[in-house]
Amino acid sequence: MTNKIFHPYTSFSASENGFPNMVRGEGIYLFDDQDKRYVDIVSSWWACALGHSHPKVVEAIQKQAGILQHSITGSLTHPNVLALAERVAGLMPTPDRHSVFASDGCSAVEAAIKIAIQYWYNVGQPDKTWVIGMDQGYHGDSLGALGAGFVDGFHKPFERTVSHPAKLPFPIPTEDDPTGFEPSRAVINQHKDKLAAVIVEPLCLGSAGMKMYSAGYLQQLADCCAENEVLLIIDEVAMGFGRTGKRFAFNHAGIDPDLVCLGKGLTAGYMPLSACVVKDSIYNTFSDEGEKDCTFYHGNTYAGHPIGCAAALAALDIYEAEGTVERGAEMAEKMKQWMLPMAELECVEELRFLGMIGVVELKPETKSKILKIKESLFEQGYLFRPLGTMFYLMPPLVISDDELKGAVYALQQTIEDFC
Ligand code: PLP
Repeated sequence: MTNKIFHPYTSFSASENGFPNMVRGEGIYLFDDQDKRYVDIVSSWWACALGHSHPKVVEAIQKQAGILQHSITGSLTHPNVLALAERVAGLMPTPDRHSVFASDGCSAVEAAIKIAIQYWYNVGQPDKTWVIGMDQGYHGDSLGALGAGFVDGFHKPFERTVSHPAKLPFPIPTEDDPTGFEPSRAVINQHKDKLAAVIVEPLCLGSAGMKMYSAGYLQQLADCCAENEVLLIIDEVAMGFGRTGKRFAFNHAGIDPDLVCLGKGLTAGYMPLSACVVKDSIYNTFSDEGEKDCTFYHGNTYAGHPIGCAAALAALDIYEAEGTVERGAEMAEKMKQWMLPMAELECVEELRFLGMIGVVELKPETKSKILKIKESLFEQGYLFRPLGTMFYLMPPLVISDDELKGAVYALQQTIEDFC
């Protein structure tokens, strides 16, 4: 069969011969059409925190498909979306929240950006229209998301399409400024009259290469935004639901963000569903009862999709019942200990860790070997997706000790073989 797929994030030359054909998943494994199994070390684009084919999520999806597969949420509601909105509000530091539901992470980000801008319009400050992010931050591939997050390596063709009036510099701690926040403070102070919101990936810029920064920075950012009348959007699409050792990465900073974007782990990768969870102090300004109509004229066909919500409710039940977040935090410490010996390898530039994210950054001169290492690992049954010269482990949080140790060992051996 010819390959007619326009593959995402896939080099053109690699597409000529087609790709391994994954036909099923079970636990932490994906199986190809030859029944060869691969450890899904990237949790299928960081989503499948519970691995594949968890019987309880599968059952919830099957059951819901037979009851109500779709019903719009414009002027209608249904039990699953009501329950899920209540549930995600309850996961936040303060539960007075309403949620906009969407399908992908970038749709939740689009909603957050538009809510922030319209909020200032609603309250009579229509000049506050900028939503800025951190240099090399990533919030998805829609144009609005590219306006706030922009990774040079991916988004160059759109440089002139989206404007970037300002950026928060990636924090570099110094002796006088231990969190590296001061340059960001200067940007916010300078542009506060224009700023509707700031959006950041909390603690780790994933797509930019797992670049990590401190919870202290996030605390200062939250304070500075509040002092300057700038909304804070925390994009938990990649880090949420236990990846960093707490339920949300922003929990490490003890902050209460104005808007929180959720995706991926919300359904543990079982259905495309995302959410933008909004404080009621913002939500309450979207009224049509004042002088102007402040209704939020924004929505997606699949907003609050009943099967998606069923999957999310089941995943949230499992996170709670199985203590997934706590277990992930314990595994993270073990992963770190098993990975530390790699720091001794000559070709390793540095190791970085944050919860269940383990990063091996190789020296720039290994660039020509990265593809070979990746292919060899694949041959051995490990699905890694390096970013630049960096390999990372971001496995399902349910991975066992032996499986994780095996993956770390395979990575170390293969790096040693090639470098
Ligand atoms: N935000 C962050 C932090 C992400 O890492 C991603 C995707 O990797 C997105 C948003 C976009 O999510 P989606 O690919 O579901 O649109």
